[in-house]
Amino acid sequence: MKPAASGGLPKLTGFKRIIIKVGSSLLVDRKTGLKTAWLEALATDIAGLHAGGADILVVSSGAIAMGRTYLGLKKPALELEEAQAAAAVGQIALARVWAESLAKHSITAAQILLTYGDTEERRRYLNARATLATLLKHRAIPVINENDTVATQEIRYGDNDRLAARVGSMASADCVVLLSDIDGLYTAAPQKDPKAEFIPIVPRITAKIEAMAGGAASELSRGGMMTKIEAAKIATTGGAAMLIANGTKEHPLKAVIEGARCTWFLSPSTPVTARKRWIAGTLEPRGTLQIDDGAVAAMRAGKSLLPAGVARVEGSFARGDCVIVRGLDGGEVARGLVAYDAIDAVQIAGRASRDIEAVLGYSGRKEIIHRDDLALSGDGMTRPGVQNEA
Ligand code: GLU
Repeated sequence: MKPAASGGLPKLTGFKRIIIKVGSSLLVDRKTGLKTAWLEALATDIAGLHAGGADILVVSSGAIAMGRTYLGLKKPALELEEAQAAAAVGQIALARVWAESLAKHSITAAQILLTYGDTEERRRYLNARATLATLLKHRAIPVINENDTVATQEIRYGDNDRLAARVGSMASADCVVLLSDIDGLYTAAPQKDPKAEFIPIVPRITAKIEAMAGGAASELSRGGMMTKIEAAKIATTGGAAMLIANGTKEHPLKAVIEGARCTWFLSPSTPVTARKRWIAGTLEPRGTLQIDDGAVAAMRAGKSLLPAGVARVEGSFARGDCVIVRGLDGGEVARGLVAYDAIDAVQIAGRASRDIEAVLGYSGRKEIIHRDDLALSGDGMTRPGVQNEA
């Protein structure tokens, strides 16, 4: 289901779960510090979308930019350690200003600091996803940044454009908005080429689109147009539309809603379909859960798989791995991301969810595979007979 489009372009108010990424140069002035009025105006726009029923997640840069002013680090390029120290100082201030601005609209903010492993390792991915889902259920707005202080050079995002897109797929968002110091994608860098033409809509990211993206980044932020295109690939593959919009003026989201120029990247699917296709087709299953007929029927009716329905556990898998779910006749019923390590799954198989704590000594999730993490065979997504896909 796509949000209603007017004149061929999607409408920001038509999306259900929106990531809003704010670049450092929008939020922080190198000389005067935090742009308070700008942030307050953005918080008003965000509150409007939130009041309209959308779930909102903010990915905010600015920790390093804010921290370096406190520490008096004036040189243009910081060493990694300096940037990490600046982030440690700046992140406190950043979280506080977001919490205060949103509180003026009676919205609760929640700070989430992620590292690359939190989004890329399956076990941690499930944890972060569950936390985000719980916050959104309670109508809080997660304010997310990379945990720059501990992220090491080799394995860090370094730019919040791609982080925002990954968080988008992790949270099953249907729209990712990158607020930038430019209003969108041009056929060439507009500062250098007067003939550069603006591109309002990108139905698919082709080699030609990638070639338009040059490499330039602005002084305070890391991500140039290249990383924005990389982000667009991640977002659209995850079933979300992505939008690059100019954030330099006050009320940038209101401006988009009122028709300001911006670039939309469209996705061929929805977050649910994209996630299920990913589960069904791209992971190497690490084990098998054989389930009884009642559990097969419940799953086909859209329910989660509970430990009580599991008759047999095979394989050595870890929480977050993909497993095949088979019926008693051995036929593949589904694939899904399992919520327990094999060693624990064996122990809780056939048991009621309320017994989990007594059996394992900790209170885990009541589902062994949550319905959001299940892709049923026959959805046209699994490939029966193929058991070990790369
Ligand atoms: N995480 C960095 C910060 O908060 C910003 C990364 C980026 O500019 O994309 O300062």
